[in-house]
Amino acid sequence: MLYDRIYVRFGDLTLKGKNQKIFIRRLYNLLDEKLKGLDVEVEHRHDHAFIILNNTDPDLVIERLNLVSGVYSYSLVIRIDKNIEMLKDKSLEYIKEIVKEPTSFKVETKRADKSFLYGSMETTKLVSSHILRSMDNLLRVDVHNPELTLKIEIRAEGIFIFTSQIRGLGGFPVGVAGKGLLMLSGGIDSPVAAFLAMKQGVEIECVHFESTPLTSIESAQKVIDLVKIIAKYAPHNKILVHMVPFKELHMALLDNVPESYNITIMRRMMYRIATKLAHKNGALCLINGESVGQVASQTLQSMATINGVTNIPVIRPLCTYDKVDIINISRKIGCYDISIKPFEDCCTVYVPKAPATAPRDYKAAEFEKAFDYEKMVDEAVENTNSIWISTDSDLDLAMYGLEVREVIKELNDERTIK
Ligand code: ATP
Ligand code: MG
Repeated sequence: MLYDRIYVRFGDLTLKGKNQKIFIRRLYNLLDEKLKGLDVEVEHRHDHAFIILNNTDPDLVIERLNLVSGVYSYSLVIRIDKNIEMLKDKSLEYIKEIVKEPTSFKVETKRADKSFLYGSMETTKLVSSHILRSMDNLLRVDVHNPELTLKIEIRAEGIFIFTSQIRGLGGFPVGVAGKGLLMLSGGIDSPVAAFLAMKQGVEIECVHFESTPLTSIESAQKVIDLVKIIAKYAPHNKILVHMVPFKELHMALLDNVPESYNITIMRRMMYRIATKLAHKNGALCLINGESVGQVASQTLQSMATINGVTNIPVIRPLCTYDKVDIINISRKIGCYDISIKPFEDCCTVYVPKAPATAPRDYKAAEFEKAFDYEKMVDEAVENTNSIWISTDSDLDLAMYGLEVREVIKELNDERTIK
């Protein structure tokens, strides 16, 4: 095998300030967790790590590495003892292996270990002339814009050579920023918001407002299927999902509130319930998939009126993304095909013909007086059923019944959840 290890970089640790230690510990835990089951070893260094491949297929390792938030970049590398002759020979061998057609080329050396006898310029010169001498039919030096750069890093623990540096997920290891409660619908946006929040270090629990049997059980199954996918980025590959029975509140507001304010008030109810669930479960913020201007309930005026019912921070990772950008991420993380399955949830049944695009807070409050929503909000919180969903979950709600609350209650009665 050409490469013997993967060199994993954590990015500029000084940016992580006082949290460096926590960041690094979390990142190592996450790395170990995601690499579990593969025959590799992780060597811990201060601002980087090596994954020793032990002949494991690098593509398998890279697939896992791409699930680890906080990894800035990585390279497939070859380690060489700190000996200039060996460096020259191995570098030539390596370039011979990867260059089959004429290409432009340069060598770049970084000497972190100042005890190495040769300076970086000198090393570059010695290695490049050695390579060119036997490969001048294929290689042409171009120091400004080469197609291929052989990178040499001289470190205390050895010399590493490689040709490409691939960006990792970036951000922070999931969990390091604390916990947020993510409002998950079955649509395209909220799973992407979940991914972006986790990537920035936020551990998530999900809340879904379900109106079965008013809406189909398949619409709730979609949510479970989406969680299975995004759970691959979560600690221990699992996420806790809170299923809120929303049917009664949903019906009550359809009966009592002017049609144009249905959505505004429905979303105010969701925010109220989510806020209470966040407090109950130790989440520090709400997260959702809203994006400015996408629909009537996401105009700035709507957002203000809806946001008015909570004082917990609401994070909207997608607020400035357009739909094409969101879809690209959705595809990349593997959610898109599930998200576009045509099952209606509570936001898509009974959509008013002309929803208010500039709803006012005082009007919403006035309309809400028409029914005893506070009691219903509390009941919804109380009757919420929670379930852990992991990447390998085989939960099929439809096998059990038509009402989510019944199904999850039954499942939880059957087994003790942690
Ligand atoms: P999505 O594509 O995620 O469904 P959307 O563009 O359809 O979003 P809305 O339906 O207005 O937008 O919802 C905006 C956000 O509110 C969603 O991204 C999600 O975070 C939250 N949300 C909507 N419906 C639900 C629900 N039934 N349960 C939990 N959260 C919801
Ligand atoms: Mg939606």
